[in-house]
Amino acid sequence: MSDHMINHRGPEFFELITECTEKLKQVFMTENDLFILTSSGTGALEASIVNTLSPGDKVLAASAGSFGDRYADLLDAYGAEVTRITFEWGEPIDPDGIRQGLKDDPEIKAVIVTHNETSTGVTHDLQSIASVVKGEFGKLLLVDAVSSLGCVPLPVDGWDCDVVSTGSQKGFMIPPGLAFISFGRDAWEAQKEAAMPRFYFDLEEAKKYLDRGQTPWTPNLSAMYGLRAALENIMDEGMEGVFGRHASIGQFTRDGVRAMGLELLCADEARASNTVTAVKMPIHIDGEQMMEIMRTEENVVLAGGQGKLTGHIFRIGIWATLNEEHIQEVLDALGRVLPRVGF
Ligand SMILES: *Cc1c(COP(=O)(O)O)cnc(C)c1O
Repeated sequence: MSDHMINHRGPEFFELITECTEKLKQVFMTENDLFILTSSGTGALEASIVNTLSPGDKVLAASAGSFGDRYADLLDAYGAEVTRITFEWGEPIDPDGIRQGLKDDPEIKAVIVTHNETSTGVTHDLQSIASVVKGEFGKLLLVDAVSSLGCVPLPVDGWDCDVVSTGSQKGFMIPPGLAFISFGRDAWEAQKEAAMPRFYFDLEEAKKYLDRGQTPWTPNLSAMYGLRAALENIMDEGMEGVFGRHASIGQFTRDGVRAMGLELLCADEARASNTVTAVKMPIHIDGEQMMEIMRTEENVVLAGGQGKLTGHIFRIGIWATLNEEHIQEVLDALGRVLPRVGF
């Protein structure tokens, strides 16, 4: 990543973007168009909305956590008419709820959903959700996969997801600064009429330039060097290998936490996330103090809860290159610190 800069309108960049785009399509398991954007994951989420919708369009937003809510906030900001259906934080989104929402209002044009709710440690049943949204109702399906893609299975074409967004800093093992978005045929149909304002994230422009091996605006070259290396690693390991590794480290983390007498926020083991584990803070424990000791004395940085879960949970991220040895260190540190704060 410290390599020197190249001409982003020259032949070396043509090779770089072509190779990265092709390999990303393999990770997304899609033959849809795929774009590399210079932004964090939210840029791709914004692109998913402004390229498919018009102000006043009716959209169903299914949410069971703070990232689900944020995606809906993005719709609000661009003037969509949003129907929010919310589920208990820590529980999976129920596809029946989405079915009912679509039955109740036939004018709904699109559904937005988060695949892996990072704030609660739940991986929603996207396959079933997609079969309702696309299979039964033929609506547009926009997916936030920032904390799942590249770690847990998400066959974009196999599940028929129209638009799927993610970022570089979670499953892809590289620093923040890139976002990836797949954009399918029905999305391009919607794009023809989509009237929301857009400029930087106009995917029609992105497509025009990608056909020439370029991006409309200056790309994040350093991050793309990192992306090329990361994709090589992923291809070497194979998608099944990557998924299997996350599944086993997820299980290892959950088992370890439960063995200490702690409780997971997600009670449904089948939907527990293999990229982030959310643990209930024992009731009489000062979570702030616990995490502070973990950070300053054990060199372990845990994440707290977000929104209404603040103070009620702590989270362990298990993306990318973490292995069981690292997680064991976290568990050992918890074993030392928790008794000190009264657990
Ligand atoms: C991290 C995250 C985001 C935010 O992505 P940024 O890269 O910070 O813009 C959005 N959705 C989910 C599910 C996330 O985990």
